[in-house]
Amino acid sequence: MTVTALRIHGPGDLRLHEEPDPAPGDGEVLVEVTAVGLCGSDRHWYLEGSIGDAGLDRPLVLGHEFAGVLASGPDAGLRVALEPAVPCGACGTCRAGLQHLCLQQRFAGHGTTDGALRTRLAWPRALAFPLPDDLPDVEAALLEPLGVALHALDLGHVRAGTAAAVLGCGPIGLLTIQALHAAGVEVALATDPLAHRRAAAARLGALAALAPGDVAAAGPFGELGVDVAFETSGEDDALADAADVVRPAGRVVLVGIPDGDRTSFPASTARRKGLTLLVSRRMRPGDLERAIRLARTGHLHLAPLVTERHPLAGFGAAFASLAGRRGLKVVIEPQADRPVAPPPGTADPAGPADRSR
Ligand SMILES: [Zn+2]
Ligand SMILES: [Zn+2]
Repeated sequence: MTVTALRIHGPGDLRLHEEPDPAPGDGEVLVEVTAVGLCGSDRHWYLEGSIGDAGLDRPLVLGHEFAGVLASGPDAGLRVALEPAVPCGACGTCRAGLQHLCLQQRFAGHGTTDGALRTRLAWPRALAFPLPDDLPDVEAALLEPLGVALHALDLGHVRAGTAAAVLGCGPIGLLTIQALHAAGVEVALATDPLAHRRAAAARLGALAALAPGDVAAAGPFGELGVDVAFETSGEDDALADAADVVRPAGRVVLVGIPDGDRTSFPASTARRKGLTLLVSRRMRPGDLERAIRLARTGHLHLAPLVTERHPLAGFGAAFASLAGRRGLKVVIEPQADRPVAPPPGTADPAGPADRSR
């Protein structure tokens, strides 16, 4: 059996390949990939062929926001969301419980670790978490960015009954807005240069959804400013707005990834207010399971964020939308353009793939 894989060879250069089936290593299972969300970080790879200080060593399979069906092992047939970061588990950082900061970690679709934009992959069984029956795969592709939003909330020390601002209304910003509401926090301000993203933020309950240039005239937000501001765009201007709208001694959480590899902000504002700046890194172990639980509570809605669905062969249109920041979340469904081979055992209702057991 072969796998169809989408590899990036350089900026703007994506190609489909037919490759041998991956062989699961120790502790790994085969996964039929059903849905992959395209991320702002994939946009960096696509447009620049790099992200931050990481470049392409060889043609890479992108994709780290993904759901699938286990296709080997005793739980074959189980629908899952997958944690894209594989920490080494042995270094001092991992032993300190900070696996998300492990310097030896592998990450799907980054460096030398191929990601999920392919029909099948092998992934550690321990990093695959069961999905509720009523959560469709395309929505499950949003659980990883939701986990990122939850980690950002943790860093912001958000408390019910306080107020927040979200600067940048791409999918991470919109998930942050929803997670804040679920936590009982008022979103006093959301900003984005794109009108359709501001409209989405307003629909999701942001009290003010403004273009970045309109923030100064519209403030202050609350008597002293908001308690915590989330920078979710990777733009220095958004970070400057965050520092402007947060209260003295407030928290600013940096979630966005900057173009190039440098972030700057007005030091005088940050110093005058004695701000605490938190730099967020992906999510911590356990956050993906929290995202799954939160999604099933009904306190937030993932479906409205999925604005485009493409088969793997439709990668050209999908990445054009990502590059043009059209819509909200673009999802690729690798099984959509070819017949789905039944995982082993599914022909036998009493076999290991029987999900009713
Ligand atoms: Zn991402
Ligand atoms: Zn480690």
